[in-house]
Amino acid sequence: MSNSDYASQKLALVQARVHAACKASYRERGAVKLIGASKKQSSEIISKFIDSGLRDLGENYLQEAIDKQCKLAHLQINWHFIGHIQSNKSKQIAEHFDWVHGVDRLKIAKRLATQNDRPTPINLLIQLNPDQEESKSGVTIDRAPDLCQQIAEIEGANLRGFMMIPRARQNQGQQRAVFAQARELLEACNQRYGLSLDQLSMGMSGDLEAAIAEGSTMVRVGTDLFGQREY
Ligand SMILES: *Cc1c(COP(=O)(O)O)cnc(C)c1O
Repeated sequence: MSNSDYASQKLALVQARVHAACKASYRERGAVKLIGASKKQSSEIISKFIDSGLRDLGENYLQEAIDKQCKLAHLQINWHFIGHIQSNKSKQIAEHFDWVHGVDRLKIAKRLATQNDRPTPINLLIQLNPDQEESKSGVTIDRAPDLCQQIAEIEGANLRGFMMIPRARQNQGQQRAVFAQARELLEACNQRYGLSLDQLSMGMSGDLEAAIAEGSTMVRVGTDLFGQREY
């Protein structure tokens, strides 16, 4: 099978899963954006997915992402930074990405907002760490409202909502319950602070159905789209 056929088939399969999950929870299929989590995948393979209709890519490693952005500059792509943010890299992140999903400190949000020299404000998502895992970035659900209020006040930042990467649960009910916490938090922050946060970045290859059932608006899919990553 050619790379092009492989890409269009894989993309169609994942899109079908997204659409089925939307239908199951009476949501419009356009309510959920598919982001290809393309770390460790070659520009050549990625370009086939873009040709097949994928419009959003999420990258974790800055230098790898910038290299790909150069190679794929002729294609129409929305770039999301979904990796860990080092504060000394914030300027480059602000310059190279439309969305930043892993914000978990006020200082980082301020830097991203002021270092963005583009006409449109940068879209930020606060990363939640519901399981308090040390290997992951993010704030606990308890601390999120304060940070949300503070970041929402920064001029030049466009705070849009939350992102989370929960560990796998035993069953669908438990998996949904953790995603529901993010949805409830977003509703509570909107009400309490008069905000209009509208994005929940949650759901990956293994748990996108549960995330969509709980209101995810962006799923980040790597393995089930591009195949295993090569390290
Ligand atoms: C790698 C990655 C994904 C995709 O994970 P898969 O299980 O391969 O779909 C999603 N989000 C983040 C932040 C990632 O680093």
